[in-house]
Amino acid sequence: MSFVKDTVNTTPIVDNVFGVVDMANKAAAKLGADAVTNATIGSLYDENGKLAALDVVFDSLKNLDNTHLAKYAISFTGNPAFREEVENWVLPKDLKLAREVVATPGGTGAVASSILSTLEEGQTLIIPEIAWGSYALMAQMNNLELARYSLFEEDHFNLDSFKKTCLEVLDRQNRLVVILNDPCHNPTGYSLSNEEWEQVIAFLNDCSQKAPVVLINDIAYIDFSYRGMAARDYMLQFDKISDDVAVVVCFSLSKSMTSYGLRCGAAIILAQKEESVRLIRIVMEKEARAIWSNINNGAMEMFVDVMENRFDEYDAEKQAYVDLLRQRSGIFLQEAAACGLSHYPYKEGFFITLDMDNDTRDRFFDALVKKNIYTVKVNKGIRVAICSLPIEKVKGLAPKMKEIFDSVQG
Ligand code: PLP
Repeated sequence: MSFVKDTVNTTPIVDNVFGVVDMANKAAAKLGADAVTNATIGSLYDENGKLAALDVVFDSLKNLDNTHLAKYAISFTGNPAFREEVENWVLPKDLKLAREVVATPGGTGAVASSILSTLEEGQTLIIPEIAWGSYALMAQMNNLELARYSLFEEDHFNLDSFKKTCLEVLDRQNRLVVILNDPCHNPTGYSLSNEEWEQVIAFLNDCSQKAPVVLINDIAYIDFSYRGMAARDYMLQFDKISDDVAVVVCFSLSKSMTSYGLRCGAAIILAQKEESVRLIRIVMEKEARAIWSNINNGAMEMFVDVMENRFDEYDAEKQAYVDLLRQRSGIFLQEAAACGLSHYPYKEGFFITLDMDNDTRDRFFDALVKKNIYTVKVNKGIRVAICSLPIEKVKGLAPKMKEIFDSVQG
């Protein structure tokens, strides 16, 4: 006899990260921190091994009156001032599309609600072959199938595979829902060029002649792009979408504000017609009320305060971390190039991922552990979290990994 619904998959989640973090911590406790390289943690850490928490963000939060921290949000779609500031911050000024913003519990809530609002049980969600693991879990929990496109062809986005996957799904389905996690893709650090985006949009417009298309653009890491606000320029391509394409930009305060635990983000719904946007918003609002009700009021007020009153301080504090990330990735990439350690095309972001088949990955991972180097296995690769590795640990890491890689090849 089972108490859970018959259709649910009851296989427990295998947490790839938790186990290896634990191994790394135990090794550090036994051998001392200097002997261990812990490249597992997917949050931003400073050079002293401490979680980066922007002062401006938490000063603002703690400055709020207790009643503001205590109270419900003004509406199920989020506070109006929050929605307005999210729109101002995320979207390029010149974008003309109709839009509405719905506050969500982090980027997770935005992506999950986008999927739940648009696909029927049994339909197929399109995601990249190398991707944040939660997409597949969201599909599983909603009884959806997955189709995966290969992410790269040599050192660029694999548009052919993307097209082929979409067309195959369109053959059997009356709606196309695709996820593009860009810029600063997790876990490879790839960002599509504006030309690549232009091609993606042109293709989705073609598809929309057959069926409505929803593009879920997960921008969780956008504020750690090395291009500053220019990293949003690609969104101007969205103005070219046909009437039968909708875009949901999924924004998260977790990384942008270093406020992972506050659980605040937003779904920004874009389409040519107001009525198309309104329909998606109505469904998302009902889902919000049915699942999480409303969003952390303090987090939303903090975001508004930072954007309106403390912006310069925020910008400077965050930029120092962007610069740090760039320095760490620069060292790793330079050393990797010098010793011939192969990786997926990295442009910016929290992670660099070494490319290999899954058999090699498993052997390589075990050999790394034996040398006290802790990483995370991803599909077809090994993820190196430069976001949490101090510069001194990054230095020399690529050649060490290359030596270990060569030893498992023979
Ligand atoms: N999207 C990607 C690719 C992520 O890696 C994450 C977090 O790790 C998220 C979205 C969502 O994060 P949160 O729900 O904390 O905003």
